[in-house]
This record gives sequence, C-alpha cells and structure tokens, in this order.
Amino acid sequence: MSEPDLINVQEIAPAEVAELDLYQKREKIYTRKIEGFYQRLRMFTGWPMLLGYYCIPWININGRQAVWFDLPEREFHILGITFWPQDFSLLAFLLIIAAFLLFAITVSAGRIWCGYTCPQTVWTSMFMWVEQKVEGTRNQRIKLDKQPWSMNKLARKLTKHGAWLFIAFMTGMTFVGYFYPVRELVYELATAETGKWPLLWTVFFTLATYTNAGWMREQVCKYMCPYARFQSVMFDADTLIVSYDSGRGEPRGSRKKSLDHQEAGLGDCIDCELCVQVCPTGIDIRDGLQYECIGCALCIDACDSVMRKMDYEPGLVRYTSERELEGGKTHWLRPRIIGYIVMLCLMVGVFSYNIASRIPLELTVIRDRNNLYVETADGGIENIYRLHIVNMDTSPHQYMLSISGIDGAQIKGDKSYKLDASEDREITLRVAAEASALTLPSTAFRFEILAQDMPSIRASTESRFMKPL
Ligand code: SF4
Ligand code: SF4
Repeated sequence: MSEPDLINVQEIAPAEVAELDLYQKREKIYTRKIEGFYQRLRMFTGWPMLLGYYCIPWININGRQAVWFDLPEREFHILGITFWPQDFSLLAFLLIIAAFLLFAITVSAGRIWCGYTCPQTVWTSMFMWVEQKVEGTRNQRIKLDKQPWSMNKLARKLTKHGAWLFIAFMTGMTFVGYFYPVRELVYELATAETGKWPLLWTVFFTLATYTNAGWMREQVCKYMCPYARFQSVMFDADTLIVSYDSGRGEPRGSRKKSLDHQEAGLGDCIDCELCVQVCPTGIDIRDGLQYECIGCALCIDACDSVMRKMDYEPGLVRYTSERELEGGKTHWLRPRIIGYIVMLCLMVGVFSYNIASRIPLELTVIRDRNNLYVETADGGIENIYRLHIVNMDTSPHQYMLSISGIDGAQIKGDKSYKLDASEDREITLRVAAEASALTLPSTAFRFEILAQDMPSIRASTESRFMKPL
C-alpha cells in the first residue's frame, strides 16, 4: 500500500495570502493644461454660471433682493415672485421638474452636467487655473512639490492658498447672501458686526469650498457624490459617453511621425499618455468606461491635438455611444427620451399655469368660538371673526373687505386696510345682521377682499353666521 501524498504547508507561499486594504491612499493628480474645442465650450458654461452665482444676490427687483431665501420669515423671493410656506408644493414641483430635466439630459447626453456645469467641476477648474498660474505647468508643479522647502516654494504655496481662500470666502459669503440680505452681510463682515449665525455659515461655506475644490477635488465625485453612483444605471447603449475607439487605436505604441503605422501593424494610439495626464480624475480612458469619468472631454481635446500633430484623423477619443462603437447608429429619439420630453412639457405647462394663475393674496377666517353670537339692544345679532390677511405680492396694496350671502348684513368697523408688500395682518371684526334675515340657526356667507388698485387680486372664503336657536 502506497503512502498518501503529504502536502507540505510551508510550500504555500505567505505572499499568496493577500491582505485587503480598505483604505486607498490618494495619489495627488497633477493635471496638464490643455486647450481645445471642448475646453472653449466649457468656458461658455463655466463663466456665465460663476458670474450668475456671484452677481444674482446683488440684483434688486422692486427694491428687494431678486433671489432671497428668507428662512426666518419663511418667504422665498425668486425673481419678483414671493413664495410663502403655502406655495412650497410649487417649489417642490419645480425641483421635480429640475430632477426630470437632469435625468433626461443624463439618459441622452451622459455626464454632461458633471463635466460642464456641476459646481464641483466649475470651482475645481477655477482652483486648478489659479494653481497653474502660481505654480506653473504640470512638470513645474511636480518638481516644486519634490523640492525641499525654500523661500520660493513657501511664497508660491502661500500665494496659491491665499488666492484659494479668497475665492472660497467670496463663494461662502455669496452663498450666505442668498439667505441673508447680501448688502447687510458685506457691511457687517467689513465692520466686524456680523451676527453669530451669518458668520458661522460664511466660515463653514468658505472652508467647504476651499476643501472641496482645493484639496479633495476628484474625490468628491468619486466617493461623495450620490449622483455619480446612480447615473450609470440610467445609461443605455445610445447614451453619449466619452470613449476611446480601441478598434482604431490598438495595437498602441510609440512611433516616428514618418512611419506608415498601418503597414507596421500599429493602431492610431501613439501611447503618449496625454489623455491620462490631462484627466482631472486621473483615469485612463483607454481602459473603457469608468464611473470616475465625469465627461469633461479634456482627454478628447488632448488626443485630438495629438492626432492633428501626427496627421491622423481626430476623434480617436470622442463623444460617442456604445451602439456606435459597435458599428451601429445612435438613436437619439428613443421611447425613453420621448417619454421624458412629454413628461417635461406637461410638468412645465402645469407649473406655468399655476404661476400665471396664482393670486398673491390669502384670506383665512376663524369664527370666535367663545361667543357664538351677541344679541344687541336694537334686536340685531352680531358674530365675531378673526381674519388673517396675507399680501403675498411684492407691492403694497389697499384692500377692501366685504361680505355677501346674508341680506342686509354688514361689517362693523373698518373695511379698508393697507398692507405693505409681504405683510400679513390679523384683524378682529364684528358682522351684524337682522334676525329676520336669518332663517336657519347657522347661515353660510362669504368674506371677500380685493385690492382696490388691482381688482384681479382678490380672495374670498366662506364662514358661518350663528343666531339663537
Ligand atoms: S476620462 Fe476624459 S472625460 Fe473622463 S474625466 Fe478623464 S479627461 Fe474627463
Ligand atoms: S492621447 Fe490619444 S494617442 Fe495619446 S495615449 Fe491617449 S489615446 Fe493614445
């Protein structure tokens, strides 16, 4: 009987037992500056957005900040329209429209939002621009970081971080200016008279901008942004993506410009790695579609510049779709997109109708329940009501109050009220009626209020008039 084969456990090399490290240390990315068609396009999206962001709080409409989310008063002033808590359904609807629009854009054009208009991308690009101006080109920055500390290095680093902090402060202060009157905020900050909360939020948003755009950059997109994670499930074979045409580019390899690479059996990719060096997320687009890719098209501009230098056709890295890469034709108008467009048109229509027909006046009436009725000496009956009038308009109005539904009934006291823009007022009043005009113990009637200078602004509400049984 033969001896069974013994396994020598020491023959299993310890190196084969791999240790899984759940924390991945960040490799600093030094991006190379590149110019091209898509970078010019990004200027047309980035600069107007920045300009709009910094300027909008300074624009006034009817003497009030055009965009002001006044949280303590629970009023949102947006371009001349004041939204009150009762209008929050409209705001929620507006957010749903915006989300639908984003989904429709993502399904058809991929991560266009991320690459061109996302604040994280726009602010990071601005911070990178500052970095390039202060510390130089990619190679100069790598060299500077490797150098020991010197006066030159210290001066450059201080200048860069100073400029970053200045931009971050302007960004944070502007953000708070959407929630707090911006002119007051600037004055209070300049004179060190700011309240605790405006100061705290300004510091918070300053540090958030400085950290996100200066230090964390692509990590925000990779690890923190939820939209980056789930938008890939919205992609289909016709979604526009930035792709490397491996059929055309492979086999890759360096060569002399004069070489007939097709005869030499080479593809169009010269393996220069320029597309990797310009990528703000540090990925190699030649490895295929990756969730880290924000669709900024920097690699397209980089590769196109290489292709032109080599006298090859541009577009080795380009916007395309999975279907097109497989030899098919992209279907732009597909059922899903048509569905989104129809839904968006419907929702925008409903929203516009609601805004156009919205009456900026609210009237609520509560009957005084402590006193069901009061019998007067002349045989009449009086009921007491508490009215709440809200002028939701951006202009003051003179309002006239009236009642209808009970013959001869009248309001005792003041019927005319002047309310300032966004003012709400509570008033208590009596309504008197003859007992002979009331057939039932409880009679329905209406309060109506209308702006005398603008009769289209009117509101009415029903209440009840009580008489003795
Ligand atoms: S792979 Fe290209 S498009 Fe994607 S993030 Fe990098 S540079 Fe931008
Ligand atoms: S830039 Fe173009 S040619 Fe150069 S490595 Fe990238 S894909 Fe290849």
